Amino acid sequence: THAQIGVTGLAVMGRNLARNFARNGYTVAVHNRTASKTRELVEEFGGEGEFVPAETAKEFVEALERPRRLVIMVKAGEPTDAVIEEFAPLLEPGDMIIDGGNAHFADTRRRERELREQGIHFVGTGISGGEEGALHGPSIMPGGSVESYDSLGPMLEKISAKADDGAPCVTHVGPDGAGHFVKMVHNGIEYADMQLIGEAYQLLRDVAGYSPAEIADIFRTWNRGRLDSYLIEITAEVLSHVDAETGEPFVDVVVDQAEQKGTGRWTVQIALDLGVPVSAIAEAVFARSVSGHAGLREASRHLAGPSPRTLGKEEAAAFADKVEQALYASKIVSYTQGFHQIAAGSEEYDWDIDLGKVASIWRGGCIIRAAFLDRITQAYEAQPDLPSLLADQGFADEIAAAQDDWRSVIATAVTQGVPTPAFAATLAYYDSLRAPRLPAALTQGQRDYFGAHTYHRTDRDGTFHTLWGGDRTETSA
Ligand code: NDP
Repeated sequence: THAQIGVTGLAVMGRNLARNFARNGYTVAVHNRTASKTRELVEEFGGEGEFVPAETAKEFVEALERPRRLVIMVKAGEPTDAVIEEFAPLLEPGDMIIDGGNAHFADTRRRERELREQGIHFVGTGISGGEEGALHGPSIMPGGSVESYDSLGPMLEKISAKADDGAPCVTHVGPDGAGHFVKMVHNGIEYADMQLIGEAYQLLRDVAGYSPAEIADIFRTWNRGRLDSYLIEITAEVLSHVDAETGEPFVDVVVDQAEQKGTGRWTVQIALDLGVPVSAIAEAVFARSVSGHAGLREASRHLAGPSPRTLGKEEAAAFADKVEQALYASKIVSYTQGFHQIAAGSEEYDWDIDLGKVASIWRGGCIIRAAFLDRITQAYEAQPDLPSLLADQGFADEIAAAQDDWRSVIATAVTQGVPTPAFAATLAYYDSLRAPRLPAALTQGQRDYFGAHTYHRTDRDGTFHTLWGGDRTETSA
């Protein structure tokens, strides 16, 4: 047999991805370290298409047509290296290893470099959409060589999600680690989206006084407008769910400590290295971290502060409209920051990433899929060298229209003591960019004072230092 593609690592993701390939007419070789899982897959789903089960690495590699396309869907990190070490010696120049796990892009860059010496194409591929996506169509973000995409692209296009206009949600993002980098930022943006939605919910609950079921209805209304997105849709589902055991809203019986697997943290770590201000994502990661410090929160509960006053019915409805404006404005800023990070990564690593294309492949299959992404694609298509999404006239106009409500919602949150770190961070970013002067001038003065770090002047070129400890004359450094 000559399978067109092979999948090794048959946990939820790998199994569903293999089934997706088979359901689309490809012959799929399947392999797993623990062979019983391979047998289970074929027993349970063998009727869906052509599977070639392989017990050993050798059998697996021999089952593949050449050049071989081998997908790895194992736990990210050391297991990925272990699997590469096992398979690489069995491969030949021109073969492709596709890593669909959530690898760190720096690992992907290393693996790509090492395997390139052997003539093997290593294709680090971001896959978003969870297990449902893997089966029915994920958003796929492959990196690696152009040659590998020529061979793989048509298959990936077939199994990927399709956007509303029918376009497959996959593109060759760029060389080596570009795909995993973009997947990482996707997850960072997802963190920020979730945090912003969480803050909107908290305000509707504490300030407007709505019940979770009422808030679910508000989110459903929002989901018919410009905020139309998967995350808003599932938020309404979660909020309207009632716990079977207690009869309480589900959201009230869940412990309020958010966990994380690490891609949001990676996004922020890399943003710090690149010098890109992704404050919405950072606040989202910190908000999860704050929530998890149960002891600290318990010990702080008595601290002074206002208690939210609940609004009357009419005021509440008006407030909810304002929260929608705030959420939308903050979302624009958050995506502006995320795309800035992708642009900066592309610049740093010479990836030449098409930002509009990235937005377009997130329209289907992935967690942040949203109508809004079309707007981002249009903005970059209209002006490929757009320095920032906020420089797009359409987004700038929308924020201009939303900003009074945006500011008023955040002011209310502050005066009533409801924490809205991501709302506030996005507004501060916006105002920082607008500001004619920033206190950075003072910062430079302080740095020059204590550390002779020098400064530039607004009125002439050069680098200067003031003799702070002496007669305070200015010297040219
Ligand atoms: P897991 O991350 O739980 O990984 C389990 C798989 O890895 C099993 O097939 C296991 O084999 C294999 N494995 C672990 N260690 C080794 C090793 N040393 N050598 C060989 N095989 C090993 O599976 P998931 O399906 O959840 O995820 C797969 C990948 O996809 C991960 O990188 C994940 O981050 C990524 N991903 C997951 C998403 C999700 O929603 N779950 C979404 C997008 C990406 P065995 O059966 O023998 O133990």
